[in-house]
Amino acid sequence: MTMLREIESVLAANDRLTSSHALWLYGNAPSEWLREAADEIRRKLHGERAFYNRNIHFEPTNKCVYACRFCAFARTADQGPEDGAWDHDLEEFDRILRAKQPGTITEVHITGGVHPDRGVEYGEALCRKVHEVHPTAHVKAFTAVEISFFARKSGLSLEEALRRLQAAGLGSLPGGGAEIFDPEVRRKIAGGKAPAHQWLEIHEVAHGLGLRSNATMLYGHVEEHRHRVDHMERLRDLQDRTNGFMAFIPLRYRNENNALSHLLEVSPEEDLRNYSVARLYLDNIPHLKAYWVMLGVELAARALEWGVDDLDGTVDDSTKIYSMAGAEDQHPAMTTARLESIISAKGRVAVERDSLYQAV
Ligand code: SF4
Repeated sequence: MTMLREIESVLAANDRLTSSHALWLYGNAPSEWLREAADEIRRKLHGERAFYNRNIHFEPTNKCVYACRFCAFARTADQGPEDGAWDHDLEEFDRILRAKQPGTITEVHITGGVHPDRGVEYGEALCRKVHEVHPTAHVKAFTAVEISFFARKSGLSLEEALRRLQAAGLGSLPGGGAEIFDPEVRRKIAGGKAPAHQWLEIHEVAHGLGLRSNATMLYGHVEEHRHRVDHMERLRDLQDRTNGFMAFIPLRYRNENNALSHLLEVSPEEDLRNYSVARLYLDNIPHLKAYWVMLGVELAARALEWGVDDLDGTVDDSTKIYSMAGAEDQHPAMTTARLESIISAKGRVAVERDSLYQAV
């Protein structure tokens, strides 16, 4: 039996693909086969529904103790506005939140640089501020890398830090900071920051506390297909134990203004194939998100035919992470009407969701 026939029979039996299958798919599967197979799995999971939400991001600071080589966002603690650094205080956050009419957003997504002076108390203050101004909004905040630093700075265990943030109103964790788990690749692109085992531990502890989370994978830089498979295998294994991940979010490396700018970006076809392999392999993570801010609207819409069921949200020009790294849209903002029309144009039913994927 050829490998493709073997994979088809595994899928037809609703069985699980092995990591060898996934690796073979990356390198060998015909693109149209991949698209159709992933689309079929997506349909089994979600029917014709495709999801979006009404969210804003808040990036408290881009001052960071780390210097990830793929990052165009971070500045050092001693840099100032003239260098593109910022460091918002709570008053500024309050002003940003109050600029939104009550009820117009369901989620505030907070991530930023790892500021050397900030511990868990700062994270707590941000969570409380969201609930003070928008009592019904969900706070999805802090990558595992930020939480790891908060805990260290405040002299707490990871669980204590997460419990404190949860008590202050943290609702779920975003998936950032995962990058690529393979230690050798991680050392090359993100030296120094929370290692893979700690990223996974933080999500496992969070799931144990009843916090759901997402998981990302930064691809298209120096990694090989086997590293992507290894990354997804570790997520799939954790999900088997906790069932706490809601969505997997592949993030394409963008190559402007960072220390890896000599690398070419992957092609749109590679992006789409990557979504499909992820949809086929990650059989226990329900949602697959094309983050339109990173990918561009047109390609994110195409991804809906390659296994994707979620486009993220309105964002409202509130994030600079990808615009600083070369994304096409320098002021990413989307109305709900536009998100719905992008989804309907693909023959799908647009569903506004909350942060936990319940229909609003
Ligand atoms: S990716 Fe995050 S942790 Fe790494 S340098 Fe950028 S802001 Fe800091």
